[in-house]
Amino acid sequence: MLQQTRMEVVLGYFERFIQRFPTIKALASSTVDDVLAAWSGLGYYRRARMLREGAVAVFERGAMPRTVDELMTVPGIGRYTAGAIASIAFGDRAPIVDGNVKRVLARLDGVEDDPWSRAEELVKACEEPRKLNQGLMELGALVCTPRNPSCDVCPVQKYCVAFATNRVHELPRPKEKQATRELRIPLYLVTDRKGRVLMRREHGKLMTSMLHLPHGDSSLLGARPLEVARTQLIGTFRHTVTNRRITFALFEAKLADSLATFAALRATNLRLVRATTAEGMQRVGVHTERGEESVAHMLKLYADHDLVHLRQIDRIKKAVGAG
Ligand code: SF4
Repeated sequence: MLQQTRMEVVLGYFERFIQRFPTIKALASSTVDDVLAAWSGLGYYRRARMLREGAVAVFERGAMPRTVDELMTVPGIGRYTAGAIASIAFGDRAPIVDGNVKRVLARLDGVEDDPWSRAEELVKACEEPRKLNQGLMELGALVCTPRNPSCDVCPVQKYCVAFATNRVHELPRPKEKQATRELRIPLYLVTDRKGRVLMRREHGKLMTSMLHLPHGDSSLLGARPLEVARTQLIGTFRHTVTNRRITFALFEAKLADSLATFAALRATNLRLVRATTAEGMQRVGVHTERGEESVAHMLKLYADHDLVHLRQIDRIKKAVGAG
Protein backbone atom coordinates (compact mmCIF):
# COMPACT_ATOMS: atom_id res chain seq x y z
CA MET A 1 0.00 0.00 0.00
CA LEU A 2 2.86 2.34 0.73
CA GLN A 3 4.19 2.13 -2.79
CA GLN A 4 3.00 5.41 -4.34
CA THR A 5 0.76 6.33 -1.38
CA ARG A 6 1.54 8.37 1.73
CA MET A 7 1.57 6.80 5.19
CA GLU A 8 -1.23 9.03 6.59
CA VAL A 9 -3.53 7.88 3.80
CA VAL A 10 -2.55 4.22 4.13
CA LEU A 11 -3.04 3.85 7.89
CA GLY A 12 -6.85 3.66 7.91
CA TYR A 13 -6.94 1.38 4.88
CA PHE A 14 -4.32 -0.97 6.27
CA GLU A 15 -6.26 -1.66 9.49
CA ARG A 16 -9.49 -2.34 7.62
CA PHE A 17 -7.73 -4.46 5.02
CA ILE A 18 -5.99 -6.60 7.61
CA GLN A 19 -9.25 -7.10 9.50
CA ARG A 20 -10.98 -8.12 6.29
CA PHE A 21 -8.10 -10.40 5.14
CA PRO A 22 -6.22 -11.42 8.29
CA THR A 23 -4.27 -14.30 6.72
CA ILE A 24 -2.71 -15.25 3.39
CA LYS A 25 -5.38 -17.94 3.14
CA ALA A 26 -8.17 -15.36 3.60
CA LEU A 27 -6.71 -13.16 0.89
CA ALA A 28 -6.05 -16.08 -1.46
CA SER A 29 -9.64 -17.35 -1.16
CA SER A 30 -11.24 -13.94 -1.76
CA THR A 31 -12.53 -12.72 -5.12
CA VAL A 32 -10.77 -9.99 -7.07
CA ASP A 33 -13.80 -7.76 -6.58
CA ASP A 34 -13.74 -8.25 -2.79
CA VAL A 35 -10.11 -7.17 -2.71
CA LEU A 36 -10.72 -4.23 -5.04
CA ALA A 37 -13.65 -3.13 -2.89
CA ALA A 38 -11.44 -3.15 0.24
CA TRP A 39 -8.78 -1.23 -1.69
CA SER A 40 -11.25 1.24 -3.11
CA GLY A 41 -10.01 4.82 -2.88
CA LEU A 42 -6.31 3.94 -2.52
CA GLY A 43 -5.73 4.02 -6.27
CA TYR A 44 -3.17 2.09 -8.33
CA TYR A 45 -5.48 -0.91 -8.32
CA ARG A 46 -2.94 -3.14 -9.97
CA ARG A 47 -1.29 -3.38 -6.54
CA ALA A 48 -4.46 -4.90 -5.08
CA ARG A 49 -4.82 -7.44 -7.87
CA MET A 50 -1.14 -8.41 -7.64
CA LEU A 51 -1.34 -8.71 -3.85
CA ARG A 52 -4.18 -11.19 -4.20
CA GLU A 53 -2.37 -13.09 -6.96
CA GLY A 54 0.72 -13.21 -4.76
CA ALA A 55 -1.32 -14.57 -1.85
CA VAL A 56 -2.76 -17.28 -4.13
CA ALA A 57 0.75 -18.29 -5.25
CA VAL A 58 2.11 -18.40 -1.68
CA PHE A 59 -0.92 -20.31 -0.42
CA GLU A 60 -0.62 -22.90 -3.20
CA ARG A 61 3.05 -23.28 -2.45
CA GLY A 62 2.35 -23.87 1.24
CA ALA A 63 4.83 -21.39 2.73
CA MET A 64 6.37 -17.99 2.14
CA PRO A 65 9.57 -18.33 0.08
CA ARG A 66 12.70 -17.07 1.86
CA THR A 67 15.32 -16.10 -0.70
CA VAL A 68 15.28 -13.13 -3.09
CA ASP A 69 15.26 -15.39 -6.16
CA GLU A 70 12.38 -17.49 -4.88
CA LEU A 71 10.46 -14.46 -3.66
CA MET A 72 10.73 -12.87 -7.09
CA THR A 73 8.80 -15.80 -8.59
CA VAL A 74 5.71 -14.68 -6.62
CA PRO A 75 3.43 -12.40 -8.71
CA GLY A 76 3.72 -8.78 -7.65
CA ILE A 77 7.06 -9.18 -5.86
CA GLY A 78 9.92 -7.36 -7.55
CA ARG A 79 13.51 -6.85 -6.55
CA TYR A 80 12.80 -4.21 -3.92
CA THR A 81 9.99 -6.10 -2.15
CA ALA A 82 11.93 -9.36 -2.34
CA GLY A 83 14.96 -7.67 -0.75
CA ALA A 84 12.81 -6.11 1.96
CA ILE A 85 11.14 -9.43 2.88
CA ALA A 86 14.36 -11.45 2.70
CA SER A 87 16.36 -9.02 4.83
CA ILE A 88 13.75 -7.76 7.28
CA ALA A 89 11.74 -10.95 7.80
CA PHE A 90 14.51 -13.54 7.35
CA GLY A 91 17.75 -11.62 8.02
CA ASP A 92 19.22 -12.38 4.57
CA ARG A 93 22.04 -10.24 3.17
CA ALA A 94 19.76 -8.84 0.46
CA PRO A 95 20.05 -5.21 -0.68
CA ILE A 96 17.06 -2.92 -1.12
CA VAL A 97 16.90 0.31 -3.04
CA ASP A 98 13.95 2.66 -3.13
CA GLY A 99 13.89 6.40 -3.82
CA ASN A 100 14.96 7.20 -0.25
CA VAL A 101 17.86 4.77 -0.23
CA LYS A 102 19.00 5.95 -3.64
CA ARG A 103 19.17 9.55 -2.41
CA VAL A 104 21.03 8.67 0.81
CA LEU A 105 23.63 6.63 -1.09
CA ALA A 106 24.16 9.34 -3.71
CA ARG A 107 24.78 11.94 -1.00
CA LEU A 108 26.89 9.71 1.24
CA ASP A 109 29.20 8.77 -1.62
CA GLY A 110 28.98 12.11 -3.39
CA VAL A 111 28.28 10.34 -6.66
CA GLU A 112 25.31 8.77 -8.43
CA ASP A 113 26.63 5.29 -9.15
CA ASP A 114 24.63 2.11 -9.53
CA PRO A 115 22.75 2.17 -6.20
CA TRP A 116 22.01 -1.58 -6.24
CA SER A 117 25.72 -2.49 -6.36
CA ARG A 118 26.49 -0.02 -3.60
CA ALA A 119 23.59 -1.26 -1.43
CA GLU A 120 24.82 -4.82 -1.98
CA GLU A 121 28.34 -3.91 -0.84
CA LEU A 122 26.96 -2.34 2.31
CA VAL A 123 24.61 -5.19 3.18
CA LYS A 124 27.41 -7.73 2.71
CA ALA A 125 29.70 -5.80 5.03
CA CYS A 126 27.19 -4.97 7.76
CA GLU A 127 26.43 -6.86 10.98
CA GLU A 128 22.65 -6.97 10.67
CA PRO A 129 21.06 -6.62 7.21
CA ARG A 130 17.63 -6.11 8.75
CA LYS A 131 18.81 -3.06 10.69
CA LEU A 132 20.96 -1.66 7.91
CA ASN A 133 18.14 -1.72 5.35
CA GLN A 134 15.57 -0.28 7.70
CA GLY A 135 18.10 2.31 8.86
CA LEU A 136 18.81 3.44 5.28
CA MET A 137 15.12 3.71 4.51
CA GLU A 138 14.35 5.64 7.69
CA LEU A 139 17.34 7.92 7.24
CA GLY A 140 16.05 8.83 3.79
CA ALA A 141 12.46 9.27 4.97
CA LEU A 142 13.14 11.29 8.13
CA VAL A 143 16.59 12.91 8.02
CA CYS A 144 18.11 12.92 4.54
CA THR A 145 14.94 14.26 2.94
CA PRO A 146 14.81 15.52 -0.65
CA ARG A 147 14.56 19.18 0.41
CA ASN A 148 16.18 20.64 3.54
CA PRO A 149 17.82 17.47 4.90
CA SER A 150 18.62 17.64 8.65
CA CYS A 151 22.39 17.31 8.28
CA ASP A 152 22.93 18.84 11.75
CA VAL A 153 21.43 15.82 13.47
CA CYS A 154 22.39 13.21 10.89
CA PRO A 155 24.08 10.19 12.48
CA VAL A 156 26.26 9.57 9.41
CA GLN A 157 27.24 13.17 8.75
CA LYS A 158 30.93 12.49 9.32
CA TYR A 159 30.97 9.93 6.47
CA CYS A 160 28.96 12.06 4.06
CA VAL A 161 30.85 13.27 0.98
CA ALA A 162 28.05 15.57 -0.18
CA PHE A 163 28.04 17.31 3.20
CA ALA A 164 31.83 17.62 3.29
CA THR A 165 31.94 19.07 -0.21
CA ASN A 166 28.87 21.26 0.20
CA ARG A 167 26.93 19.49 -2.55
CA VAL A 168 23.97 18.22 -0.53
CA HIS A 169 21.47 20.13 -2.64
CA GLU A 170 23.04 19.05 -5.93
CA LEU A 171 22.59 15.33 -5.27
CA PRO A 172 20.81 13.45 -6.59
CA ARG A 173 20.36 15.42 -9.79
CA PRO A 174 16.68 16.08 -10.54
CA LYS A 175 15.08 13.78 -13.10
CA GLU A 176 13.85 15.30 -16.30
CA LYS A 177 10.15 15.89 -15.91
CA GLN A 178 7.78 14.03 -18.21
CA ALA A 179 5.49 16.36 -20.08
CA THR A 180 1.97 16.39 -18.66
CA ARG A 181 -0.74 15.05 -20.93
CA GLU A 182 -4.21 16.52 -20.72
CA LEU A 183 -6.98 14.08 -21.61
CA ARG A 184 -10.70 14.62 -21.78
CA ILE A 185 -12.71 11.42 -21.64
CA PRO A 186 -16.48 11.28 -22.00
CA LEU A 187 -18.26 8.76 -19.75
CA TYR A 188 -21.84 7.77 -20.42
CA LEU A 189 -24.58 7.19 -17.89
CA VAL A 190 -27.07 5.01 -19.71
CA THR A 191 -30.01 3.71 -17.71
CA ASP A 192 -32.96 1.53 -18.61
CA ARG A 193 -36.55 1.64 -17.39
CA LYS A 194 -35.73 -0.56 -14.42
CA GLY A 195 -33.11 1.94 -13.30
CA ARG A 196 -30.21 -0.30 -14.25
CA VAL A 197 -26.96 1.34 -15.35
CA LEU A 198 -24.83 0.25 -18.26
CA MET A 199 -21.27 -0.65 -17.30
CA ARG A 200 -18.31 -2.30 -18.92
CA ARG A 201 -15.35 -4.30 -17.68
CA GLU A 202 -12.49 -2.18 -18.95
CA HIS A 203 -9.06 -3.11 -20.22
CA GLY A 204 -6.40 -0.51 -20.76
CA LYS A 205 -3.81 1.55 -19.02
CA LEU A 206 -6.07 2.34 -16.10
CA MET A 207 -8.47 0.29 -14.01
CA THR A 208 -8.01 -2.92 -15.96
CA SER A 209 -10.76 -5.44 -15.30
CA MET A 210 -12.75 -3.04 -13.16
CA LEU A 211 -16.32 -2.26 -14.03
CA HIS A 212 -16.59 1.24 -15.33
CA LEU A 213 -19.11 3.53 -16.89
CA PRO A 214 -18.66 3.11 -20.64
CA HIS A 215 -16.57 5.80 -22.23
CA GLY A 216 -16.38 7.66 -25.51
CA ASP A 217 -12.62 7.69 -26.07
CA SER A 218 -10.02 4.94 -26.21
CA SER A 219 -6.87 6.88 -25.30
CA LEU A 220 -6.94 5.65 -21.71
CA LEU A 221 -9.43 2.82 -21.50
CA GLY A 222 -8.88 0.04 -23.98
CA ALA A 223 -12.39 -0.94 -25.07
CA ARG A 224 -14.03 0.50 -28.15
CA PRO A 225 -15.81 3.80 -27.40
CA LEU A 226 -19.54 3.35 -26.82
CA GLU A 227 -21.83 4.49 -29.60
CA VAL A 228 -24.46 6.77 -28.17
CA ALA A 229 -27.25 8.82 -29.65
CA ARG A 230 -28.44 11.71 -27.53
CA THR A 231 -26.26 13.04 -24.72
CA GLN A 232 -26.64 15.63 -22.02
CA LEU A 233 -23.72 16.75 -19.86
CA ILE A 234 -24.17 16.08 -16.13
CA GLY A 235 -20.79 17.41 -15.06
CA THR A 236 -17.06 16.79 -15.00
CA PHE A 237 -14.50 15.48 -12.54
CA ARG A 238 -10.74 15.37 -12.65
CA HIS A 239 -8.33 12.57 -11.94
CA THR A 240 -4.54 12.61 -12.18
CA VAL A 241 -2.52 9.49 -12.90
CA THR A 242 1.26 9.99 -13.09
CA ASN A 243 1.69 12.50 -15.93
CA ARG A 244 -1.87 12.29 -17.21
CA ARG A 245 -4.36 14.92 -16.14
CA ILE A 246 -7.72 13.55 -17.03
CA THR A 247 -11.01 15.36 -17.13
CA PHE A 248 -13.88 12.88 -17.18
CA ALA A 249 -17.05 14.41 -18.58
CA LEU A 250 -20.11 12.51 -17.46
CA PHE A 251 -23.06 12.51 -19.86
CA GLU A 252 -26.54 11.14 -19.53
CA ALA A 253 -26.93 9.27 -22.80
CA LYS A 254 -29.18 7.08 -24.94
CA LEU A 255 -27.72 4.10 -26.75
CA ALA A 256 -27.27 4.16 -30.48
CA ASP A 257 -29.87 1.93 -32.18
CA SER A 258 -27.22 -0.63 -33.17
CA LEU A 259 -26.62 -1.44 -29.49
CA ALA A 260 -30.19 -1.48 -28.28
CA THR A 261 -30.35 -5.25 -27.67
CA PHE A 262 -28.86 -7.23 -24.81
CA ALA A 263 -26.93 -9.46 -27.24
CA ALA A 264 -25.32 -6.42 -28.82
CA LEU A 265 -24.34 -5.12 -25.41
CA ARG A 266 -22.78 -8.42 -24.38
CA ALA A 267 -20.76 -8.51 -27.59
CA THR A 268 -19.05 -5.29 -26.55
CA ASN A 269 -18.50 -6.45 -22.97
CA LEU A 270 -21.26 -4.21 -21.64
CA ARG A 271 -23.52 -5.19 -18.77
CA LEU A 272 -26.60 -3.76 -17.20
CA VAL A 273 -25.96 -3.18 -13.52
CA ARG A 274 -28.59 -2.91 -10.86
CA ALA A 275 -28.51 -2.13 -7.16
CA THR A 276 -28.91 -5.08 -4.80
CA THR A 277 -29.14 -3.16 -1.54
CA ALA A 278 -30.00 0.36 -0.57
CA GLU A 279 -26.96 0.94 1.63
CA GLY A 280 -25.62 4.02 -0.07
CA MET A 281 -22.90 3.12 -2.52
CA GLN A 282 -21.70 0.06 -0.67
CA ARG A 283 -23.13 -2.87 -2.57
CA VAL A 284 -24.16 -2.76 -6.17
CA GLY A 285 -24.49 -5.97 -8.14
CA VAL A 286 -24.04 -6.94 -11.72
CA HIS A 287 -25.36 -10.12 -13.28
CA THR A 288 -22.79 -11.97 -15.32
CA GLU A 289 -21.97 -15.57 -16.08
CA ARG A 290 -19.85 -15.48 -12.92
CA GLY A 291 -22.79 -14.44 -10.76
CA GLU A 292 -23.22 -11.26 -8.85
CA GLU A 293 -20.21 -9.03 -8.40
CA SER A 294 -19.58 -5.90 -6.41
CA VAL A 295 -18.89 -2.68 -8.24
CA ALA A 296 -18.80 -0.63 -5.05
CA HIS A 297 -15.13 0.12 -5.71
CA MET A 298 -15.99 1.80 -8.98
CA LEU A 299 -18.71 3.99 -7.54
CA LYS A 300 -16.57 4.89 -4.55
CA LEU A 301 -13.80 5.81 -6.92
CA TYR A 302 -16.04 8.39 -8.55
CA ALA A 303 -16.97 9.73 -5.14
CA ASP A 304 -13.36 9.78 -3.95
CA HIS A 305 -12.24 11.56 -7.04
CA ASP A 306 -14.44 14.53 -6.73
CA LEU A 307 -17.46 13.87 -8.78
CA VAL A 308 -17.36 17.53 -8.08
CA HIS A 309 -20.94 18.32 -7.22
CA LEU A 310 -22.78 16.16 -4.75
CA ARG A 311 -25.85 16.59 -6.92
CA GLN A 312 -24.08 14.55 -9.58
CA ILE A 313 -23.18 11.74 -7.20
CA ASP A 314 -26.80 11.73 -6.09
CA ARG A 315 -27.90 11.35 -9.68
CA ILE A 316 -25.70 8.32 -10.19
CA LYS A 317 -26.75 6.84 -6.87
CA LYS A 318 -30.39 7.35 -7.76
CA ALA A 319 -29.80 5.85 -11.16
CA VAL A 320 -28.34 2.67 -9.65
CA GLY A 321 -31.01 2.62 -6.96
CA ALA A 322 -28.45 3.09 -4.21
CA GLY A 323 -29.24 6.63 -3.15
S1 SF4 B 1 24.80 14.56 6.23
FE1 SF4 B 1 23.03 15.42 5.26
S2 SF4 B 1 23.22 14.83 3.11
FE2 SF4 B 1 24.64 13.55 4.27
S3 SF4 B 1 23.48 11.70 4.66
FE3 SF4 B 1 23.21 13.04 6.42
S4 SF4 B 1 21.34 14.18 6.01
FE4 SF4 B 1 22.01 13.25 4.09
